[in-house]
Amino acid sequence: MGYAFDPAPIPTIAIAGSNDRIPVRRIFCIGRNYAAHAREMGKDPDRDPPFFFLKPADAVVEDGATIPYPPETENFHFEAELVVVIGTGGTNIPEEQSLDHVWGYAVGNDLTRRDLQLKAREQGRPWDLGKGFDRSAPIAPAHPVSAVGHPASGAITLTVNGETKQQADLAELIWSVPEIISILSHSMELMPGDLIMTGTPAGVGPLAPGDTCVVTVEGLGTLTTHIGPRA
Ligand code: MN
Repeated sequence: MGYAFDPAPIPTIAIAGSNDRIPVRRIFCIGRNYAAHAREMGKDPDRDPPFFFLKPADAVVEDGATIPYPPETENFHFEAELVVVIGTGGTNIPEEQSLDHVWGYAVGNDLTRRDLQLKAREQGRPWDLGKGFDRSAPIAPAHPVSAVGHPASGAITLTVNGETKQQADLAELIWSVPEIISILSHSMELMPGDLIMTGTPAGVGPLAPGDTCVVTVEGLGTLTTHIGPRA
């Protein structure tokens, strides 16, 4: 058996302090998981079940990379997020066992073509082109649980050109990491290499060509992304 053309390389993210890499299977994202961000998006924060969307695995971008300003948007946004790396798969995972399935954590940026996302939302259409476009998932090197534990609190901040735009605490997550893993695993079989972007705090805003965006999560280091000229 041959392939009709060469298969694409396996998307990967770096591991802090190691030459090994995490092979990325899927990137799950949760919407509106900090109350103040839900309000700024025009929605009431509540304990309605969380909702999910996905980015393609090959949307991942290395720390320190320059990415071109994406096409077909006039409102390209940053979103600082804690990223969970699933190391052990499972279905119907009880909440009290969720953390056993985590390999580690990383700092991420859920880059968003906000104008396309909001237009899709208004029209009841999928978010894919607003959220899952090329190079929409910068993710810093991942840290294993053996080194960082399970961060349930700690500062999450984002700056653009040194100016603070987002500043919150992981303890403000509406749905906690154990709850998210359990809920998601009742809908999809989680697999090693699945990433979960856990939602962004308030303060989302635009990026422009020439900007430098830095996301920091206490204990997990920083993620720097430079925005280049329009693609
Ligand atoms: Mn997000």
